[in-house]
Amino acid sequence: MDDDYKRIAGNLDNRQNLCCENPEVKEVLDLGTGKVLLAQDAIGSDVNGAMRLRRKLAGQHKITDDDQLEVICPYCHKPLRLNCLMSGQRFYFAHIKRENNCPQLEKKNWTKERIEAAKYNGQKESLPHKQMKGDLCRVLEADSRFSDIAVEEVVKGEDPSTWRKPDVRALYNGALRVVFEIQLSTTFLEVVLARRDFYREKGELLVWVFKKFSLRDARMMEFDTFHANNMNAIVLDQKAQEWCQQHGKLGLKCVWVEPKHEDGQLSHSEYSDIIDFEDLSKSVEDQQIYWFDYNGKRAIVDAELERWREVERVRNIRESFFDAFDPTLDADDQSKYANKFFPEMNLRSNDIKWRLSGYLRMMNAARTGDPTKRGGGWGFSNFKNIYDNVYKSHTSLYFLFCCAMKAYSRDETSTSITDRKEEAWRSVCADGENSKFHHDSIYSELTEVLFPEVHEVYKKILSKSKKGS
Ligand SMILES: [Zn+2]
Repeated sequence: MDDDYKRIAGNLDNRQNLCCENPEVKEVLDLGTGKVLLAQDAIGSDVNGAMRLRRKLAGQHKITDDDQLEVICPYCHKPLRLNCLMSGQRFYFAHIKRENNCPQLEKKNWTKERIEAAKYNGQKESLPHKQMKGDLCRVLEADSRFSDIAVEEVVKGEDPSTWRKPDVRALYNGALRVVFEIQLSTTFLEVVLARRDFYREKGELLVWVFKKFSLRDARMMEFDTFHANNMNAIVLDQKAQEWCQQHGKLGLKCVWVEPKHEDGQLSHSEYSDIIDFEDLSKSVEDQQIYWFDYNGKRAIVDAELERWREVERVRNIRESFFDAFDPTLDADDQSKYANKFFPEMNLRSNDIKWRLSGYLRMMNAARTGDPTKRGGGWGFSNFKNIYDNVYKSHTSLYFLFCCAMKAYSRDETSTSITDRKEEAWRSVCADGENSKFHHDSIYSELTEVLFPEVHEVYKKILSKSKKGS
């Protein structure tokens, strides 16, 4: 404080905030912008500006038309004036008439919800709000699908304490009562939810209309509405208004997000487009109006993710299985080893102990490209030996082994092998899965999980044999 000046109004170079300590009126509503400001922010530090505001507000007590008010109490909506303390050093806002019940003046008996609702209704008096309401009405009046258009009509519910004052109401196609609530100011979730319930019970559709909406800078209340509305925001902006004028009917900008699944991750993209009111999905029961069905798509994406994670899980177990796999183990130990991993991969192996060992050896040789003990587990030195062995001792796996060799690009072309492959092929074409060269179905189950690349080749070749026969 500068003692050189008896009154602060004389200190034009003042740099300190001009608002008094602990003002009774802590918040004011600027009707020109629709913004609720702290008294300190509204008064500022510029003496000249504060004195101008003081003159402007001094005229408000004479105003009879509410449209001309400029700064009011956000809660009781009565005009304010800007007074100076007796000391002459600081300013404060005061109600022009102190008769009103106002939470800024008496704290008791006002619930948080009632305060928020009063503040919300106060902002409806602001200039931007009124302009948008006018814009919406003009569009509705030009659209022959709408009738009974009413502006700020008081709607009485069954319980008198739940009176609501929607901005614009209209009847759509003579059947659906639509209530538009312009959303420039903020209210809190309980109010949003209470309004949804109120209109659901009345069988009417409540549409929250925004001036703009973006995931980057929306406010909490806007997100509450957006999430409740199937992740769609309804916007009436300049572009939407131009669309309405061109088409002579109501179209609203819809901002929505689409979920997708990418490499096990859920991700979202934001979109927007102007949509004819007719083409928006509407549900009174859910109190939703939207273009993109996020919840429907999300369920599909979640199921995809679930499948993807299961495939990943099994892939990891398969890797562990092969990391420690020893093809030279005898059939008993091989079976024990397999049984440690198979249940986690939803595989059974109990009843195929002997064959399992041969199956794993030949498949692993093909997978690793190593026909020796380290790959095939037998004492062979080349793949021709394995072909011979499978043909003679594991005949029913021969076709599958040929598929495995093809899948891992290890095809052998010697005449003896080619002849046998043709023999097996003819047999599979003729008898299909009953061919003596075709395996039991359990090996298909094992192959699908343990050697998925072979399973793909097997399915493709088998479908050709079926077409051929
Ligand atoms: Zn007040």
